[in-house]
Amino acid sequence: MPLDIVPSVCPHDCPSACALEVELIDGWRIGRVRGASAQSYTRGVVCAKVARYAERQHHPARLSRPMRRVGEKGVGAAAFVPISWENALDAVAEGLTRAAERHGPEAVWPHYYGGTMGRVQRDGINRLRHAMRYSRQHSTICSALTDAGWLAGVGPKRGIDGREIAKSDLIVSWGGNPVSTQVNVMAHVAHARKERGAQLVVVDPYRTATAEVADKHLAPLPGTDAALACAVMHVLFKEGFADRDYLARFTDDPAGLEAHLKTRDPGWAAAITGLCVDEIVDFARLYGRTKRSFIRLGYGFSRQRNGAVQLFAVTCLPSVTGAWRYEGGGALISNHDLVPLDLTLIEGLDLLDSTTRTLDQSRIGPILTGDRRDLGDGPLVAALFIQNTNPLVASPESGLVRQGFGRDDLFVCVHEQFLTETAAMADIVLPATTFLEHDDFYTAGGHTYLQIGSAVVQPYAECRSNHDVICALARRLGARHPGFEMTAFEIVKHTLRVSGLPARKRSSRAYGSIVGPASRPVISSTGLVIAMGNFISAPIGRRSDQSMDGCPLSPTMSRSSTSVIPIGRSG
Ligand code: SF4
Repeated sequence: MPLDIVPSVCPHDCPSACALEVELIDGWRIGRVRGASAQSYTRGVVCAKVARYAERQHHPARLSRPMRRVGEKGVGAAAFVPISWENALDAVAEGLTRAAERHGPEAVWPHYYGGTMGRVQRDGINRLRHAMRYSRQHSTICSALTDAGWLAGVGPKRGIDGREIAKSDLIVSWGGNPVSTQVNVMAHVAHARKERGAQLVVVDPYRTATAEVADKHLAPLPGTDAALACAVMHVLFKEGFADRDYLARFTDDPAGLEAHLKTRDPGWAAAITGLCVDEIVDFARLYGRTKRSFIRLGYGFSRQRNGAVQLFAVTCLPSVTGAWRYEGGGALISNHDLVPLDLTLIEGLDLLDSTTRTLDQSRIGPILTGDRRDLGDGPLVAALFIQNTNPLVASPESGLVRQGFGRDDLFVCVHEQFLTETAAMADIVLPATTFLEHDDFYTAGGHTYLQIGSAVVQPYAECRSNHDVICALARRLGARHPGFEMTAFEIVKHTLRVSGLPARKRSSRAYGSIVGPASRPVISSTGLVIAMGNFISAPIGRRSDQSMDGCPLSPTMSRSSTSVIPIGRSG
């Protein structure tokens, strides 16, 4: 039986974006999936879930044909009958058109999230949205708060290269549980512990699996991380651990910060966090005397209403000690903004009408049930087109979500790999490809590679990719944009080219579809610069008169377009 090994990239919403080596049996069947050893972040390690991806790829319950619902909503497969792609696409186009004609285009809501992190197959839905003036989406369900906190403290989503953990003497996992959610982080931590005796500290209210294996576990009360961070900085300033030269050169208001922290001593923080004074002081001293200290921030911050300010406070720590100067030192929440990408073609940004209504993804329940606080002056949502998400089980206020999907006057199309809870409520269900069956490219949260994943097998049965379905609907709806006339890989190539990145040929065979690893951030006279393998990216940091996704910027942020690591609010 011929066995081939083909390269790919994990598409899941996980910071590791692992480079994969996939066993291909007889040219169509997937065998074992392993981490690519040649990619220096993945280094041969993947999680158990994706190692057994063949079970998903070849699962008998995978959707194979388009279906129309003829029975009750939510019943399952018995309520659907198969139909042709032509009839299915016609029905979807008719459902969206009817809603737009009756109530206006904002009555249609293309709804999506991170079912794949491939930029073409995930974000192409926005091209259709902008071309048709459908309601926009504010993607708030996961990282909105951490994004805001990092933006306030540091700038765009870029931190140090995750591979630098190997050079760290102290790794602080703050608000995350990498044993369960980032297997690669733990692989690099294990290496640093073995090779250089690095210590692992976990800050988490829960006794997680990562806390179980840590050298030290601090368990502040939920939502009190900022108090701990302030007390740590209080000790750093008081006991001479602050790098005043770094603060003077690269931060806005170190004197203001120090004055602000005067009263935020460990006793003050102990009363808020529930930690002992000694625990706080010991951690502060360990952090202060360890210059190669790396804070791996997690998405636990996003699970608190005050998560943005909590994370903002923690991002100030490496600025106070100047840890950013040292290889293995600094912090990371995500590197998704590391490579400046021109997404105009993918998302149809040249068609975006900024007056179009934006709906909050996390409020889908109230939105579908007609809450005016969410709908504003716009119409009730009358049609949903859904890719890459399963809101019936993933969205808050699930009772309202189910009630909303139960409306008789709501048209729903779901494009999915399986008959999910949401798909079971749809009028039309379309079968979707997996990442092994379509082309795309991937940025990463946890490392610095930009990777191309080409299709390695033919689509299962009648499955079609997100991109193909978007283009087919665009033709029926009369939407015009060059992106609707191109293949997914033509869009990949164009996006790399206009973003100033090296060209790559489409190949399902060449492991080498990695565009460029970065080396560590370099502090230059103009700020923190990420030196890339193939090019030098724009300086990290951003103008204080710009905002991202409407997030207000800290008044303490630098007035320079290039200076970095602005720190804490004074007063
Ligand atoms: S660790 Fe994350 S990126 Fe790697 S294979 Fe598993 S889900 Fe995918």
